[in-house]
Amino acid sequence: MKEYDVIVIGAGAAGLTAAGVSASLGAKTAMIEARKNGGDCTWYGCIPSKTLIHAATTAWQARKAKNFGINIPEISVDFPALMKHIRSVQEHIYNEADAPAVYERMGVEVISGRASFVDEHTISIRRTRSTTDGQGEIFCHRHRKPASYPPHRRTSGY
Ligand SMILES: Cc1cc2nc3c(=O)[nH]c(=O)nc-3n(C[C@H](O)[C@H](O)[C@H](O)COP(=O)(O)OP(=O)(O)OC[C@H]3O[C@@H](n4cnc5c(N)ncnc54)[C@H](O)[C@@H]3O)c2cc1C
Repeated sequence: MKEYDVIVIGAGAAGLTAAGVSASLGAKTAMIEARKNGGDCTWYGCIPSKTLIHAATTAWQARKAKNFGINIPEISVDFPALMKHIRSVQEHIYNEADAPAVYERMGVEVISGRASFVDEHTISIRRTRSTTDGQGEIFCHRHRKPASYPPHRRTSGY
């Protein structure tokens, strides 16, 4: 049984931020991710969509260039090359900002597995990738009393 001050479930945009802040404040922090760090933002949402929009804007500007007296020969989109570019941007963001090694350097223990609550202080983790511990479950225990919501949040319905 391992004990932490803070256990973050999920290494998406929210979890990565929470774990980084928690560790930077000196809390013993674990972050558990069932798939690959980065979540929707890196793999499906913000990063690929903004990279695609940027490419589309570039093509659009090239097509409109003649309005500014700039002649660009015929514009075509190489979609496989565009997708390759999007994947390379995702990998760059992952390696620079999301990868387990980045958070381990900040002092976060990054655990690959699916977390579930055993009770309000204890989390069980089912490993999703092989590790030195092999297949199985580990348990994390959060020994401090959880902070409660501020009163207005408890009655706001959210
Ligand atoms: C097309 C698109 C474009 C977007 N563009 C933008 C943008 O430009 N700017 C912006 O701010 N937002 C954007 N968003 C929204 C943004 O992607 C989400 O707000 C953000 O990804 C949510 O992050 P999250 O950490 O809350 O959740 P998620 O990214 O869903 O991360 C949750 C993580 O938790 C893990 N997980 C879940 N359950 C468990 C468990 N039991 N144990 C272990 N791990 C678990 C999941 O595997 C996942 O990695 C966009 C979304 C889409 C779809």
